[in-house]
Amino acid sequence: MSNNNQYDMLIVGSGPAGQKAALHAAQSGSRVALIEKTRELGGSCVHRGTIPSKTLRENALRVKNMRMNAELANFELPEDVELATLINRLNDVLLAHDTYMRRQLERSSVELIHGRARFISSTEIEVITVAGEKFSLTGECIVIACGSHPHHPDNIAIDHEHLFDSDSVLSMMYLPKSLIVLGGGVIASEYASIFQALGVEVTMIDKYPLPLGFLDSDLTETFVNGFKHMGGTWLGETVVTRAYWNGFDAVIAETEDGRQIKGEKLLCAAGRIANVKELGIENANLKLNDRGLISVDENLQTNILGIYAAGDVIGPPSLASASMEQGRRAACNALDMPPGIMHNIIPTGIYSIPELSSVGLSETQAREQYGRVLVGVARFDEIARGQISGIQNGMLKIVCDPAGKKVLGVMIVGEGATELIHIGQMALLSDARVDLFVESIFNFPTLAEAYRAAALDIVHQRKKL
Ligand SMILES: Cc1cc2nc3c(=O)[nH]c(=O)nc-3n(C[C@H](O)[C@H](O)[C@H](O)COP(=O)(O)OP(=O)(O)OC[C@H]3O[C@@H](n4cnc5c(N)ncnc54)[C@H](O)[C@@H]3O)c2cc1C
Repeated sequence: MSNNNQYDMLIVGSGPAGQKAALHAAQSGSRVALIEKTRELGGSCVHRGTIPSKTLRENALRVKNMRMNAELANFELPEDVELATLINRLNDVLLAHDTYMRRQLERSSVELIHGRARFISSTEIEVITVAGEKFSLTGECIVIACGSHPHHPDNIAIDHEHLFDSDSVLSMMYLPKSLIVLGGGVIASEYASIFQALGVEVTMIDKYPLPLGFLDSDLTETFVNGFKHMGGTWLGETVVTRAYWNGFDAVIAETEDGRQIKGEKLLCAAGRIANVKELGIENANLKLNDRGLISVDENLQTNILGIYAAGDVIGPPSLASASMEQGRRAACNALDMPPGIMHNIIPTGIYSIPELSSVGLSETQAREQYGRVLVGVARFDEIARGQISGIQNGMLKIVCDPAGKKVLGVMIVGEGATELIHIGQMALLSDARVDLFVESIFNFPTLAEAYRAAALDIVHQRKKL
């Protein structure tokens, strides 16, 4: 660290939002300090969220496929598999990521400061090191990118030994025989289906009738059917009043209707809370909104001039992908550099088994806005690639305006959904007509051909208007 404690930009947190803000500001010639309290760089995205869960998913898919070919390969997953074996490549992935990030930040002359940040005023931050030393830094502008942590409801006795949250679930030593998953959101759906694919008996419980309520029900039904087909149990419209370790052999989830559901372990995925407790935001005259988040305007500036916020700390969509862009934009706005257009067409990727992804309006949302809309559907079992690869449990849906011309949204369920969605995203960003998918020649055989089949479905319906 330099002796001079005056910076153009101070950034709190080295997750996707903080990193991109730091890189962008430093590459434009500003003097930047990135303050991170943990030893590692990358935030929960790299160490507790996105990358670990996707590494486990990759191996769960391998196990699932191996099981399908078990007779051929004479394969059987041994009892008591250590979870570490199932995320065996994780350390390599993390090390490669950490090295790459550190080099990139150093190359761009970002000063990395290891310590806890706390506001002293709206321009001054105190850093407390692991050894307890304190020093202060001042910044012309400050970007808060300190992320979020899992919410622990009072009635769920999370102990990180029997009852876990999404940050601690991968610290389980062994793959349990059974797992209760509380929640029906993205993280709950991802982990429930991943563990079920690994052969764990998973019971997923949520108060809503279907998980992932922001998607159309035909997609979530495909997900639930796939989950049940693997052996999972979905308990919708069920309110858990209390969950605890019985001190002997099981975790018990008690429900409002008097049932007791038993499991070896439990994962509570009940949303996330902004990491602001130790930030001393009141010293900078910053306030939290009623959801405990930091509010920002369209430029990602808080209510205090010169203080910006990006990533999970400002709330939805709470995705690594969106956080990175918010971090970059916050830096641009703070330094008066044009950030470019902010598109609100952000794809959502749900890495459950099977995968789900959506962009633009769902059919339900489109009907609310436009009344009658045209919807084209292609099922993967009707696409040559789907049959060849055995990816039959999937569908792609294009939602069009009432005239059946303008693409309003795309939703996909099935393997490859999170990659395929970007074709739809580009169509939406370029205001494309649905005919574009019919007029284009797609590689054969590919899953992307589903776009053409769904578009043809719409064109046929259009003729009958
Ligand atoms: C299980 C799981 C799976 C996910 N999967 C996906 C996915 O597939 N795709 C996707 O796009 N997103 C996914 N996400 C979401 C994604 O991880 C987050 O949206 C993203 O990490 C948010 O980035 P961030 O920079 O805002 O914060 P974070 O990544 O949380 O980083 C914040 C950093 O700030 C540091 N910090 C906090 N307070 C202080 C302080 N006072 N001083 C110094 N440092 C501090 C923290 O140590 C941390 O390193 C997933 C999340 C979870 C939990």
